[in-house]
Amino acid sequence: MVHPVFDNLPTTIFERMSGLARQHGAINLGQGFPDDQGPLPVREAAARALIEGSNQYPPMRGLPALRAAVAEHYGRTQDLTLDPETEITVTSGATEALAAAFLSLISPGDEVVLFQPLYDAYLPLVRRAGGVPRLVSLKPPHWRFDRERLEAAFSPRTRMVVLNSPLNPAGVVTPDEDLALLAEFCVRHDVVAVCDEVWEAVVFDGRRHRPLMTFPGMRERTVKIGSAGKLFGMTGWKVGFLCAAPPLTRALAAAHQFLTFTTPPNLQAGVAWGLEHHRAWFDEMPAALQRSRDRLTAGLRAAGYVVLESQGTYFLNVDLVASGIAENDVAFCERCVTDFGVAAIPVSAFFAEDAVTTVVRLCFAKTDATLDTAVQRLAAAREAMTA
Ligand code: PMP
Ligand code: GLN
Repeated sequence: MVHPVFDNLPTTIFERMSGLARQHGAINLGQGFPDDQGPLPVREAAARALIEGSNQYPPMRGLPALRAAVAEHYGRTQDLTLDPETEITVTSGATEALAAAFLSLISPGDEVVLFQPLYDAYLPLVRRAGGVPRLVSLKPPHWRFDRERLEAAFSPRTRMVVLNSPLNPAGVVTPDEDLALLAEFCVRHDVVAVCDEVWEAVVFDGRRHRPLMTFPGMRERTVKIGSAGKLFGMTGWKVGFLCAAPPLTRALAAAHQFLTFTTPPNLQAGVAWGLEHHRAWFDEMPAALQRSRDRLTAGLRAAGYVVLESQGTYFLNVDLVASGIAENDVAFCERCVTDFGVAAIPVSAFFAEDAVTTVVRLCFAKTDATLDTAVQRLAAAREAMTA
């Protein structure tokens, strides 16, 4: 009755931890979403479009105004030249974009190279598309790959590689030299790179996001995925973008048309307005999140936690063993949410095999008061769980 990929597939860790947080009245530093409701002018633009604009089907590939705004945004911020007519498809969130990419570009038996920790949507979708996953494990504290591990993962049957940078949950940005190495493998093995760049705007300490698509030989073989939910910190706004050369875009759009066909027009209009008129946000938002990262980091360090470096995303990670905690990540998170009133995410949930079980992810996209209370509670949790 049920396809084996979805038979007994558990509910995502994010939904599960948010449920536990509600049940226990805990502070939710688990699922990644900001306390802040997002920029008011952008919400007002979407509200105006809802009342005054069309609420009928927009064009299948997305509102022309949004596709133009996305091309302009990536041109300005990432030195990309994208044709809004033939190289951009608007989707219902990055999740739909990922599904469209896997369904349209993977044939049964194709090998797909993925890095763990991996975002939990990837594997079921790749498998359902008939792909055979080849996993490369990244380890804390740097979460980097190297030539040897790529050599072991790529084969003559490799058709796709999936890269997520900045990386959820690790919070690291793939360094340029690693991107260049991966590009070399993609070209040599003639594979498509699906780049999940939803966190591209959330990078800290003066970093600038560098898309794999800009590396030599990659322009024609890369699918770049973005998310307005992450660009504007409104995670419920399911508006994503697929950017790829015209032959790839034709296949991606063919899948998109039968997944959702389109995306609510007022949200598309709001995103288009924001990209065009609310540009200061792209400096202010990461600066504010960097302050929150620093606040949570300082509080946790004072409480005895060893915090791994966060270079981007809404997340930082703590190393339980180095922090002197005897529990593994799942046990720690369960005790934290039930006994100490803080929800977090065990990083082992992002592994399919050989899991790292000693690292816990915390979301710092919260108010100072929330972070300070969470630190007090996490200090008590560490006291209780120290070996
Ligand atoms: N990819 C990654 C790495 C994510 O972290 C998320 C959501 N946080 C998504 C994809 C999904 O994005 P969307 O909400 O736009 O579907
Ligand atoms: N991407 C979000 C996170 O990492 C969660 C998305 C979801 O709940 N589906 O927390």
